[in-house]
Amino acid sequence: MSPHLTADERGIILPCPACGTSNRIAYAKAAQQGRCGTCKAELPHVSEPVEITSASDFAALITQSTLPVVIDFWAPWCGPCQMMAPEFAKAAAKAAGSAILVKVNTDERQDIASQFRVQGIPAFALIKNGKLVAQTSGFQPADRLLAWMRQG
Ligand SMILES: [Zn+2]
Repeated sequence: MSPHLTADERGIILPCPACGTSNRIAYAKAAQQGRCGTCKAELPHVSEPVEITSASDFAALITQSTLPVVIDFWAPWCGPCQMMAPEFAKAAAKAAGSAILVKVNTDERQDIASQFRVQGIPAFALIKNGKLVAQTSGFQPADRLLAWMRQG
């Protein structure tokens, strides 16, 4: 299994654990559990970080998600970001069904990073109902990140 899920303008691509078919979970329906379009098995909640690679996908996520969205701004050359990756994945698993955790590579998406005035990475932004609620930066153990996510 890949370490991250992918997404497009319409939603998060979630492989069915039963048959492997890629299902798309609409951002607005991420709080609900759907069924696989092919085998009808119940799909799990999104429980892994989602890699966001385009500004339009990001805009769709932010405007449509009914769940809080947590952004991890990172880059491949950043040591603390590598240390952060398993903690962020742990937080995503614990927050399954209650928040969407996404990763934005600041080398590839400087446009999104500058929108949030990201300077040092790793950096995090918390968005609820399309609005920026909080930002923080630096390594965070999963439990500290989860506590931080509860505000707003
Ligand atoms: Zn299936």
